[in-house]
Amino acid sequence: MIVLGVESSCDETGLALYDTERGLLSHALHSQVAMHEEYGGVVPELASRDHIRRALPLLEQTLRQAGIAKSDIDAIAYTQGPGLAGALLVGSSVACSLALALDKPVLGVHHLEGHLLSPLLASDRPAFPFIALLVSGGHTQLMRVDGVGRYTLLGETLDDAAGEAFDKSAKLLGLGYPGGPAISRLAEFGDPAAYTLPRPMLHSKDFNFSFSGLKTAVLTVVKNHEEKVVANICEQDKANIARGFVDAIVDVLTAKCVNALRHSGLKRLVIAGGVGANAQLRASLDAAADKRKFRVFYPELEFCTDNGAMIAFAGALRLEKNAALATRDYAFTVRPRWPLDELEAA
Ligand code: ATP
Ligand code: MG
Ligand code: FE
Repeated sequence: MIVLGVESSCDETGLALYDTERGLLSHALHSQVAMHEEYGGVVPELASRDHIRRALPLLEQTLRQAGIAKSDIDAIAYTQGPGLAGALLVGSSVACSLALALDKPVLGVHHLEGHLLSPLLASDRPAFPFIALLVSGGHTQLMRVDGVGRYTLLGETLDDAAGEAFDKSAKLLGLGYPGGPAISRLAEFGDPAAYTLPRPMLHSKDFNFSFSGLKTAVLTVVKNHEEKVVANICEQDKANIARGFVDAIVDVLTAKCVNALRHSGLKRLVIAGGVGANAQLRASLDAAADKRKFRVFYPELEFCTDNGAMIAFAGALRLEKNAALATRDYAFTVRPRWPLDELEAA
């Protein structure tokens, strides 16, 4: 079965073809980051319009790369939510119109399920059950995963998401948008002893997170600097602050994962979402895994942030379990707000 995946929930247009026998055939992605950069964040209307421009050329590209024709597609999976309503509508209308024209069934996929299952696209894939840490631009959740659609939320952020904390702290340091990768690179040159920033909820007994205080701590350090130094903060100071921030957030994320593993008795940890690309987080989790004898699984770097492959894959896994999930009702509905635990098991 060949499934076409269509992702358009935010600022990436992603198309991909997944074959349940041969694996991922091809994928194509356009990121709108450069377009939104000058506004310091995603402008929803611009995002929707750009998805319209990109979707069909990307579709042609994925078909060409896979060496198949449109008529070889068996089903179309699209991101139904959560995300920006206008952006989601573009992907769902593209998917449903194409499905109508080709007389194929469609399936709406939960974007976070796409992220969550993306590590299973790698060759070394974890078996169920496992603990999953989803760390993206909009979410920070710890989950117990017993199968496709069988997710138990253990804890989540009470305020900012991890990616949001990275981006906002980077912005305070003048590193542009989205600054997650930039603040991470800069932190490599920082002195870990220069600033010890707070580690919110590190010792709380639950599996929740809170990152807005950490961002405020970065703000306070930056402000104190501006008063003392008057001129711009020098590069080394910026790197030191970046290091203080990254060390703090990585410590908290690692500790909560270790706690969740210990509490559940499970020995497999899966990381998903854009912050899962972070080198310091991976190093910290790998060290903890070595010490505490558990295994960590990551998505390929290119599948950490939004992409079509994870949507094609999640759709294919669901359809393999239950082909009746796909429908020929082409009325496109999107769910901009859609809690993952409202999703039905496959
Ligand atoms: P959601 O999936 O919750 O709707 P999203 O799709 O916007 O949010 P992702 O695409 O999974 O989120 O991830 C984007 C986030 O990941 C951004 O906040 C970005 O800064 C962050 N990010 C990407 N790479 C890195 C990195 N190497 N280090 C830290 N953060 C990173
Ligand atoms: Mg994005
Ligand atoms: Fe995402």
